[in-house]
Amino acid sequence: MKRVLFASSEVYPFIKTGGLADVAFGLPKALKNMGIDVRIILPKYVNMEEKYKENLEFKASFNVKVGWRRQYCGIEYLEYAGIPVYFIDNEYYFKRDNAYGFFDDGERFAFFSRAILEVIKHIDFKPDIIHLNDWQTAMTSVLLNTQYRHLKIYKDIKTVYTIHNLKYQGEYGREILGELFELGEDMITEDKLEYHGHVNFMKGAINYSDFITTVSETYANEIQYDYFGDGLNGVLKKNSYKLKGIVNGIDYDIYNPLHDSYIPYKYDHKSVNRKSNNKESLQKQLNLPIDHKKPMISMITRLVDQKGLDLLDHIMDELMALDIQFVVLGTGDEKYENMMKYYEAKYPKKLKVHLNFNTTLAHRIYAGSDMFLMPSRFEPCGLGQLIALRYGTIPIVRETGGLKDTVVSYNKFDGTGNGFSFINYNAHEMLFTIKEAIDVYHKKGQWKKIISSAMKSDYSWERSASKYSDIYDALLGW
Ligand code: ADP
Repeated sequence: MKRVLFASSEVYPFIKTGGLADVAFGLPKALKNMGIDVRIILPKYVNMEEKYKENLEFKASFNVKVGWRRQYCGIEYLEYAGIPVYFIDNEYYFKRDNAYGFFDDGERFAFFSRAILEVIKHIDFKPDIIHLNDWQTAMTSVLLNTQYRHLKIYKDIKTVYTIHNLKYQGEYGREILGELFELGEDMITEDKLEYHGHVNFMKGAINYSDFITTVSETYANEIQYDYFGDGLNGVLKKNSYKLKGIVNGIDYDIYNPLHDSYIPYKYDHKSVNRKSNNKESLQKQLNLPIDHKKPMISMITRLVDQKGLDLLDHIMDELMALDIQFVVLGTGDEKYENMMKYYEAKYPKKLKVHLNFNTTLAHRIYAGSDMFLMPSRFEPCGLGQLIALRYGTIPIVRETGGLKDTVVSYNKFDGTGNGFSFINYNAHEMLFTIKEAIDVYHKKGQWKKIISSAMKSDYSWERSASKYSDIYDALLGW
């Protein structure tokens, strides 16, 4: 049986700031269901819910080196959903209000990165694979290969490194090499950690890991180019022989319109006509005119540049001239929040904007709306469109990253496809595609077929987890 230690700085439901937390639970859960002995390791943050904290079992304590210092490291343990989870305890580093955003984040995750390796000496679990995620655990790969390989228990361990967010790379001055890692200046080279004369944790993991993945096939290609690569395109291209894109899944237990407790009318692909009941109750809730026939378009998103909101600004007046309803749920940059509020005031009978984070409303919008708009500038994977597909809400997306890999554009000649898409980052191309979707919406037979294809698309974790398992096998020579 393969043994995998899955290391992440956030894991749902213990701590979550973004999509990484969902992956760090969904993927191990699916791997476990495939018969892999997978265990999760994360920091023990003080703001975890009490119900988890009070059930933690103390396993061991020892010291971990952070440069010349010795820092306390406790291992606490909990079995959650059948998965063993190890929590790294050090109050100095993790008794804070938030997971990140502190002046000493580099030091905090230097500690965590070494603790991941040290823990293996103290538990009865010797992993074949250590699966690392994003910049916070990137240095584990570097330390393993530079300081631990000579010890028997580390000799054969393989590392897989997954990039979820290329924006945050862990960039620090070269003085941290000695201060935090007991590494020397010889690490400042292109094939190790050097990045514009500084140290870059993510680059280290790209160079030192046995395999690298990112969260969709198209994104894995895109990040080898300047526009998407955030300065790491060169090193990614050089290492492309060990780079693969695997699209994320969504948890099909949480996102299931047949058992979703947030939505008033449950349905599946056979009872999809009940979507219109959900639409009616959403129209009531949002104070929109009740009308089954009017197409309702939705967006649920962070309101940031990445998500294509400037395109919307360009064509909003033309969009609002159409016979539609439009619902937006999101939070983010003030300029986009203001923009949305401005248009809502201008078109009160057609556009409803909710500027908060609201899980219940999100589920009701996925269930009640007809189309889900995601015109992203770039999108590593994207979860919104996957949830929309599951709820028979037809995605309209720009063809980038994971959006390109998961949404198949409708072909009016043979009736295939599960959504609509456009290629260029261009407002009128987007508007044209929305109009095309609206046209098809009014042709009931065709629209039903698209809904059926959407709801049958399989983006459960099972499919993607087996691809990770194949990578583990290949690395282990199994
Ligand atoms: P990103 O990770 O870039 O924010 P994704 O599409 O990958 O974008 O994931 C966003 C997730 O967060 C989706 O599950 C979406 O439904 C949810 N979400 C985004 N904004 C809100 C909000 N304001 N309220 C509730 N859920 C939201």
